[in-house]
Amino acid sequence: MISDSDISALQRRRAFLKLALMASVAVQWSLPLEVLAAEAKTTASKTASTAVPPRKPRPPRLIMIDPGHGGRDPGAIGLSGTHEKDVTLDVARRMADALSGYPGITAKLTRDDDVFLPLEERVRIGRNAQADLFLSVHADSAPNTAARGLSVYTLSEKASDDFSKLLADQENKADLMGGMDLPPADKDVTAILFDLATRRTHNTAQRAKANFVQSMGRNWHLLERPMRAANFVVLRAPDVPSMLVETGFLSNPRDEQILRESAQRLKIARLMAKDLAAILNGPLFG
Ligand SMILES: [Zn+2]
Repeated sequence: MISDSDISALQRRRAFLKLALMASVAVQWSLPLEVLAAEAKTTASKTASTAVPPRKPRPPRLIMIDPGHGGRDPGAIGLSGTHEKDVTLDVARRMADALSGYPGITAKLTRDDDVFLPLEERVRIGRNAQADLFLSVHADSAPNTAARGLSVYTLSEKASDDFSKLLADQENKADLMGGMDLPPADKDVTAILFDLATRRTHNTAQRAKANFVQSMGRNWHLLERPMRAANFVVLRAPDVPSMLVETGFLSNPRDEQILRESAQRLKIARLMAKDLAAILNGPLFG
């Protein structure tokens, strides 16, 4: 029994494969891979009747803002009792509000209430919406109470590689289960192209992080080494460039004070919105 969600997952995978094909052409790989790509294209054309229609030339860029934690999960708790989940929701809402004022940008939230949302669900929401960028909003806590300032994470390189391999395996398994039992050669092609597209997503996220940190540093206090990478589940979408911003340290008295103030939360939300709108409307996402 194939449900609507199975069908949309299949369509999504086909769209992703198409993206992978484009990536392989763009990087001009050596002949053997091009031959493989041609094979994959032939396979894709056999199933063209169910392929998703091409996107319009310049649709609005969609940013999915993910307020960290929520519900039974308070996140970090500050020295004065500030709950991270409240800071993240307020900043995310204000960011979405500010972003709606920029042309060519649409902003959505993974949660707009004090509810618990599993990490995988947050990733799924971003992927299903076909977001151009996923931004998870958090506030740090560290044993060193002197640590303060904003920092931004992307998925670490190794985690990205491991995960893309795992995903490629799962995708192949899903093809079999969905009745698309491709010959072994085509499954290899799918795995290779899937890996290429995942790397492309990861590279975009890293460049977005560099741009974002650089522009935020002009107007906001940054952590000493603000460019960070870790194996966060919430950053693992293979097809949506994803970042996690730590707005400050709730374990630092000065940062906590800042994040407790409504006017400061509005300030950081507007600054982040301005910089992200410029990045989304810039050449990286052009
Ligand atoms: Zn957090």
